Amino acid sequence: MGKIKASEAVIKLFENWGIDHIYGIPGDSIDTMVEALRKKESNIKFYQVRHEEVASLAAAAYSKLTGKIGVCLAIGGPGAIHLLNGMYDAKMDHVPMLVLVGHIPSRLTGTDYFQEVNTVELFKDVAVYNKEITSAESFPAVVNQAIRTAYQERGVAVLSIPDDIAEGEISDHAAQLSTIFEKKIPGLVENDLSDAVALINAAKNPVILAGVGAKHAKKELKTFAERISAPVAVTLPGKGALPDEHPNFLGNIGKIGTKPAYEAMKSSDLLVMVGTDYPYAAYLPEGAKCVQIDIDPLKIGKRYSVSVGIVGDASEALAYLNEHTTPVSDRPFLKTCQERMAKWWAWMDEDKDNKKTPIAPQAVMAAIQSIAEDNAIFSADVGTATVWSTRYLHVTNQDFIISAWLGTMGCGLPGAMAAKQAFPDRQAIAICGDGAFSMVMQDFVTAVKYKWPIIVVVLNNKQLSFIKYEQQSAGQLNYGIDLEDIDYAKFAEACGGKGYRVEKYEDLHDAFEAAKASDVPVILDVAVDQNAAPLPGKIVMDEAKGYAKFASKSVIENHKFEKMPPMKDVVRRFL
Ligand code: FAD
Repeated sequence: MGKIKASEAVIKLFENWGIDHIYGIPGDSIDTMVEALRKKESNIKFYQVRHEEVASLAAAAYSKLTGKIGVCLAIGGPGAIHLLNGMYDAKMDHVPMLVLVGHIPSRLTGTDYFQEVNTVELFKDVAVYNKEITSAESFPAVVNQAIRTAYQERGVAVLSIPDDIAEGEISDHAAQLSTIFEKKIPGLVENDLSDAVALINAAKNPVILAGVGAKHAKKELKTFAERISAPVAVTLPGKGALPDEHPNFLGNIGKIGTKPAYEAMKSSDLLVMVGTDYPYAAYLPEGAKCVQIDIDPLKIGKRYSVSVGIVGDASEALAYLNEHTTPVSDRPFLKTCQERMAKWWAWMDEDKDNKKTPIAPQAVMAAIQSIAEDNAIFSADVGTATVWSTRYLHVTNQDFIISAWLGTMGCGLPGAMAAKQAFPDRQAIAICGDGAFSMVMQDFVTAVKYKWPIIVVVLNNKQLSFIKYEQQSAGQLNYGIDLEDIDYAKFAEACGGKGYRVEKYEDLHDAFEAAKASDVPVILDVAVDQNAAPLPGKIVMDEAKGYAKFASKSVIENHKFEKMPPMKDVVRRFL
């Protein structure tokens, strides 16, 4: 058998695993891997970004959208440290990621060498698999184990690779190593299923809460909701599990959720949780029975007291329930929910129909909706952009991604980049606040470089508005939230893309139509109303107390008092 460089054998393996991309920035300690990537005529494309954080956030988004492993690389030391944010995003949203970081030459380890960072220690908390490569011969086998573990544990596998070891020659056996992975899916337990059927048949006011783990089981979920005539609330990242237009749909639950979803929860006698680890128990029913379906046994009963736990795949469990539960055609509880939801949609439509300048963020959501294609991918950023997009965008066949658990600002742009790379024929729209976008904006030029015609909508209110309302609801005065105005449209043009600065409502729709028609990346820099408050669907007592404290402090300390939302909004949503 001939000899081959370990780095080249590993690239061959990546191909066998179906890896088609690596995001990253080259540099000394990882350059042998990059050279192998360049030399070998492979189907793996290297996407050079401008900051490693964007590489790891894009890899996480790729994985959220495709279910396949996202891959990124960086040099050791500073490059590795820059990757951390996206790695935590993958860890916390449970998606597989492979991270390759360079390492100083093995003969120098422990000598306090230039850029020497103990990456194995650094990544201990974030990784499900975390090894320094110590021999060229074992490198391919370690790669296989890293990828298998990332898939099985739905987490991050990291390999720290001293350049000299990647250079090492090994026998050309790597291609023969098995790249098969069989996911362990727990089989359903008949007794649990029949207990669940009994509870569902006996319930008067059942509510379904669907999360990320139900997104692959859309058909079964829809059939289930219709069969038992139950309303369905979704978690934020579960948006899309049931189309927003479905008559049983109640929207999100939680701070960003709807009032009808909250009300349904509070009057429910049975909660059916499907593929969710929803954390905000205060929004869930008090003392109702609960059936929970989750592929991970550790999640059963973790957040809510469960009467029956079904460990297994959501689509299989729902298929069983669809066969065995008694159909219900007329449920007064569902009718009440639907009436409330009709009112809610009417309020949302009223908000979206706001034609005033300064432009209402809700009107921007209407503009996005008007250009969104049926299979578009929305990549929402963290901040008030999260609230506007979750609440006002209707997701039917589209995909919706966000950094749900880590909640890292700056995820919108990398998400749209990954969407376009993975699905070149689908429209990719990032929805960002100016604070979040400016954390990663340098990488808009990466979209230009690789000809990814994404649309980036910047809701530009020159402030960190989510934090503004957090401070207010905690009874604090606003501090440290103002941002300098950047002309993001000019920035887009400077990068070689297209930019539209929209300051008046009258110009909104033309700009969005132009963006839709563009064949290069676009930034829509929309000056939005600074005082548009993302009111919760239902305000909880602590928040009400906090706002009252903020208001009185403002008067006492002579602080600029923000315009409060119109009273009619407060009354209709909070009470
Ligand atoms: P996960 O926590 O990822 O859980 C998915 C579950 O599905 C897991 O338990 C997994 O084991 C299971 N699963 C996976 N595959 C399968 C399968 N095949 N079959 C069965 N089960 C499977 N969220 C809200 O809901 N409401 C809010 O108001 C809200 N506000 C937010 C505000 C901001 C600014 C941000 C950034 C986030 C907010 N979030 C909100 C998100 C929140 O932090 C959580 O991330 C979210 O609620 C978790 O959703 P999930 O349970 O669907 O996803």
